[in-house]
Amino acid sequence: MTDPKNAKKLLILDDEEEIAKILGEIAEDCGFSVSLTHTAPDFLNKVDVSFDCVILDLMIPGMDGVDVIRSLSEKEVHPDVILISGADRRTLHSAETLAGEYGLNIVAVMEKPIRVSDIRGILAAMIEKEAKDSSSRAKAGGGGKEGPVFTKEELLDGIHSNQFILYYQPKFDLKTGKVEGFESLVRWNHPKLGLVFPDSFLPLMEKETSILNLMTEKIIDLALDETRIWKANGGSLRVAVNVSPVTLTELDFPERILSKIKNKNIPQSQFQMEITETSFLENIRFTQDILTRLRIRGIGLSIDDFGTGYSSLKQLHRFPFTELKIDKSFVMDSPRDRESLFICQASIDLGHKLGMNVVAEGIETAEVERLMKEAGCDVGQGYYYSRPIPPEKIPEILSKFG
Ligand code: C2E
Ligand code: CA
Ligand code: CA
Repeated sequence: MTDPKNAKKLLILDDEEEIAKILGEIAEDCGFSVSLTHTAPDFLNKVDVSFDCVILDLMIPGMDGVDVIRSLSEKEVHPDVILISGADRRTLHSAETLAGEYGLNIVAVMEKPIRVSDIRGILAAMIEKEAKDSSSRAKAGGGGKEGPVFTKEELLDGIHSNQFILYYQPKFDLKTGKVEGFESLVRWNHPKLGLVFPDSFLPLMEKETSILNLMTEKIIDLALDETRIWKANGGSLRVAVNVSPVTLTELDFPERILSKIKNKNIPQSQFQMEITETSFLENIRFTQDILTRLRIRGIGLSIDDFGTGYSSLKQLHRFPFTELKIDKSFVMDSPRDRESLFICQASIDLGHKLGMNVVAEGIETAEVERLMKEAGCDVGQGYYYSRPIPPEKIPEILSKFG
């Protein structure tokens, strides 16, 4: 069996000694080396970098689970965390989110009573994953996830030398299974770093509106050009671009966009903008003015990441959106979290009542697709169908799912 020197170490905190003992036995069975504690102070005292994993009961007398989560996050230890509790699901979900905010790596959340097969499955998967990770670490030589930081000059230089390119992700009609359009997603084809994803440069650009405006205009041109090419055999498919509302402050924006669309001979109704609000809008009247004019001219407007951040009911009411995209966090969680599924269902019903098309993004499995279909969602998008692809691959997708 496992060599005890190399075994993964697990620390269990549960005031119910009998439960701690059973969990410990299951974990040892899976190959962990296990220590048990029954009080929060003892747990915080014992936990150190040598532990790969901890199981935390959130309801322990004396100190509540949230205190333990916070105290754990303040220590320089980074174990994988499994939360268990007799609290109701919503409380548990809130504790999970909070633990994530505090930087803890939550691998599972379990409601009591815990099923032996569930916890065994999770622990066994962790042992298996560790084995895989250590072999791929050996192959790839590690590497952190922290993205690079860019200067204004680098961003401008990249824009002027056309290094910002578009990938396209298909959106599928859930009734017919056919492609109904493509969403364009920006990438920076960086000469030294290779393909850089938007989360590494968009937040920076949003602080420098003039740079973001420049990039937006460029990629709209690019999307229209590339659309024209594949539309030759793609019929009436729609193309969507993402637009940050920060750029929607120049009152001549609609005219500029409309003349671009006209020049490329693309029907207005086949051009769509996805709007994600990442910050509070200062010039809300301008934004409303611009979006209304775009809509009057027939451009489709999509409210992106609905249900998160500033993408709220208020915005839904205020702006003339034609499409609602449920945020992928709800979609992805829907099979294992009832509340997320309810939120998807409610968003779909609300969208339909308001006469909108509803899109579920972040569909990664057949099960999620089924849930979204059953909930009456119109359009699906996600890795289950296709990752974002470079434009030259569009014909391939169209011949497969045309
Ligand atoms: P978004 O508009 O919500 O785009 C969806 C993001 O989720 C994309 O990430 C996409 O690659 C990813 N995604 C799609 N399907 C799945 C799935 O099944 N599972 C998972 N885990 N992820 C999936 P990406 O391309 O990194 O874009 C991130 C965000 O950057 C976008 O979120 C959008 O808000 C912004 N963005 C992208 N392109 C542009 C652009 O041209 N202009 C502006 N202003 N923002 C953009
Ligand atoms: Ca989007
Ligand atoms: Ca989204």
